[in-house]
Amino acid sequence: MSASAWSSPLEDVTQAIASLIREDTRHLPSLAQAERLKEIRQGINRLEAQFTTELRVFDQQQGWAVSGHQSLQGWLRRNCLFSSAAAADRIRLGRQLEELPQTAVAFQEGRLSAQHVGVVGRLAAQVGTEALQPAEADLVRWGGELDTWEFRHLTQRLRHCLDPEGAQADANALHEKRHLGLSQSWQGLYFLEGQLDEEGGELVRTALEAIEGVPQAGDSRSKGERRADALVELARRQLDAGSLPERAGQKPHLHLVCECGTLRQEPGAPPAELNGEVLVPREMVRRYGCDALLTIERKSEAPLGEAGRARRVVPPSLRRALQRRDRGCRFPDCDRPPEWTDAHHLKHWADGGWTELENLLLLCRRHHRRVHDEGWRVTREEGGGWRFISPAGEGWPGP
Ligand SMILES: [Zn+2]
Ligand SMILES: [Zn+2]
Repeated sequence: MSASAWSSPLEDVTQAIASLIREDTRHLPSLAQAERLKEIRQGINRLEAQFTTELRVFDQQQGWAVSGHQSLQGWLRRNCLFSSAAAADRIRLGRQLEELPQTAVAFQEGRLSAQHVGVVGRLAAQVGTEALQPAEADLVRWGGELDTWEFRHLTQRLRHCLDPEGAQADANALHEKRHLGLSQSWQGLYFLEGQLDEEGGELVRTALEAIEGVPQAGDSRSKGERRADALVELARRQLDAGSLPERAGQKPHLHLVCECGTLRQEPGAPPAELNGEVLVPREMVRRYGCDALLTIERKSEAPLGEAGRARRVVPPSLRRALQRRDRGCRFPDCDRPPEWTDAHHLKHWADGGWTELENLLLLCRRHHRRVHDEGWRVTREEGGGWRFISPAGEGWPGP
């Protein structure tokens, strides 16, 4: 066969693609456009199949060596701009398809995409083509009906049945790759980076999603912000529960050192220190001081309680009465239950406010932060309710 006769169908395809590109399809009805898109996709699948078949011949004949390349993988990277991993996958697939004839035919007929066939190839690499052959007809059928993610999930189920030891070994290998980095920038931001195995990732995701809940009306936080808040809340709840092992003879907790002037917001008062090194703004100190299990150390003489004494500001009996009255966060449209809240002092105890029912209300962490750190105000209404006033001066009645 001469070279020109051999290449002519390819020239036809090239010309057909050029005509296709010139066609203006904007006037077509949507149903016709949908049919065209499916047909184009099928054509792409068939061309991918042809590419893979011809690549296999090229592989067997070591055609790549003629142009001075050291390997077919290198040739694919240079000439078809594949990544190393994608090149290796495609070469392996070409070899595997010789032993998976039903998959090869479905690929050539455009019923399976290159991605789907790649999923079959990865499964074959894990369990061996021979083990896969009895299930091949079912795989081809499912591959034509499921999207790539669903299909991959199905093949992994099959993999666990056919090769439980291999699945265990893979899970162990993933487990060995786990790590978590936590570092602080000069600006004070903490960076978290890491990776978890599937079991660990699912555990963390499940816990965070339980804390995140469903976004409430008026919650403008992004998904990432909500997740970050959930992680902090998870740590806070664990510390509050007091069930973590002791370190240096003490239950772990945040350790806040401040002077009375800081709590009273006196001009020129120094910042507080969290855990002996992090400097925190004074409104944050007042928020912590409202109702948190922390250690307040007295640096100057003032009625702050005994030095170094861990204290819960609101005693349990008063907390119970508060929970009966407020039944959760009192911020408008907030549904966080009592166990997710702090008791906020309307008039801070550092300013002489009493720790008693009339001077307290429950706020979830986010809304407690809003009141202290973000400039919102809460006032008592004459009828006994609450009023929340934004920094811009707009007011909302609390529930
Ligand atoms: Zn407060
Ligand atoms: Zn709230």
